[in-house]
Amino acid sequence: MSETAVMSQKLSERITNMSTSATLAMAAKARELRGEGKDIIGLSLGEPDFNTPDFIKNAAIKAINDDYNSYTPVDGYVELKEAVITKFKRDNNLNYTLPQIVVSTGAKQSLANIAAVLLDKGDEVILPCPYWVSYSDIVKLNDGVPVEVKTAIETDFKMTASQLEAAITPRTKMIWFSSPCNPSGSLYSTEELNALAKVILKYPNIYVVSDEIYEHINYTGKPHASMAGIAGMFDRTITVNGVSKAFAMTGWRIGYIGAPDWIARACNKMQGQITSGANCIAQRAVIEALNASPSTVKYMIDEFNLRRDLILGLLNDIEGFKTNTPEGAFYVFPDVSFFFGKTFRGRTINNASDFSLYLLEEALVATVTGDAFGNPNCIRISYAASQEQIIEAIKRIKEALSNL
Ligand code: PMP
Ligand code: GLU
Repeated sequence: MSETAVMSQKLSERITNMSTSATLAMAAKARELRGEGKDIIGLSLGEPDFNTPDFIKNAAIKAINDDYNSYTPVDGYVELKEAVITKFKRDNNLNYTLPQIVVSTGAKQSLANIAAVLLDKGDEVILPCPYWVSYSDIVKLNDGVPVEVKTAIETDFKMTASQLEAAITPRTKMIWFSSPCNPSGSLYSTEELNALAKVILKYPNIYVVSDEIYEHINYTGKPHASMAGIAGMFDRTITVNGVSKAFAMTGWRIGYIGAPDWIARACNKMQGQITSGANCIAQRAVIEALNASPSTVKYMIDEFNLRRDLILGLLNDIEGFKTNTPEGAFYVFPDVSFFFGKTFRGRTINNASDFSLYLLEEALVATVTGDAFGNPNCIRISYAASQEQIIEAIKRIKEALSNL
């Protein structure tokens, strides 16, 4: 190849500066090692290990047989947007209208749309730490500046109103957070959201992205609290949700937003130029999912709850793991800094990334470093795995750590 041809192989700064999704990278690494014959237990990916419920699968089969095959409206079929409206009303007491709903190819695309339509160069986005892995890179990709607000395990990794107020500057455009939180499993109560809203409402140009994709995976028995339902916040909040987690539909790729209509319109315009409407068969199936009562998926939540108790009990039995008690989602986010500085076969564990790699190589258990979520002292362990796998994984981890 000529020198000019080699020189022309230059990727954009945009992609060069972007990190690879740590969750997906670890899942790919685990897959690769399994391909080499290694018996890896995957606790890295946030993906329910259940099958999609039959009533949803049957709706997809019917849609194929009914010849759904054309492009859909960019923002989704009207029947699906109506089902989203029904869901928001039924589960969250939120009154969205059709122009306020945009259906996308996963909540990840919903988030990418929001960043693209609201951020100008240098606009700041407040991210309570730990945050979901892709927030920071989606913000940076759109020339925004992530502003991390550190939270502590002792306060259940939640941002207080005074921390929020201290992080606000004239460039603050949005606050992004998930509740239940990926990776900490924390939930914001109505009172806690009220306190944050009181601060936000002092600033007329700040918007909230409330990522509620784990809404149904809530072990508290208390109703889920939505930021858009707090007095004064409906017009200031973009509610992001999707079917990946609650309905075990990660690969179907459907997410959606309820938003002020000027923002929804802009997301629709953005999506129209980059991907068009989401997959038509998946959309037809999701109409059934959202119109059904959330009690149809309660069996999965009950099982996640058992697994949470199981894994917490097992982890707390190992010296050096410090955990909070997750109230939702399917992750634990233990502080593992106790192990930093320890060595094995001449290698020193200096940080959470080294620790996670150590677990992969020595215990054959895949986890994700907390670095990717903005907290370098923790690792994320997903308990979306069978009880047998969880027991075996923690046994292996305990054994591997006894060598340090
Ligand atoms: N938000 C959070 C907090 C998540 O954990 C995920 C996981 N995939 C997403 C958004 C994106 O979900 P999806 O694109 O599968 O709808
Ligand atoms: N949200 C999941 C996780 O955090 C899926 C992976 C991804 O989309 O990054 O593991």
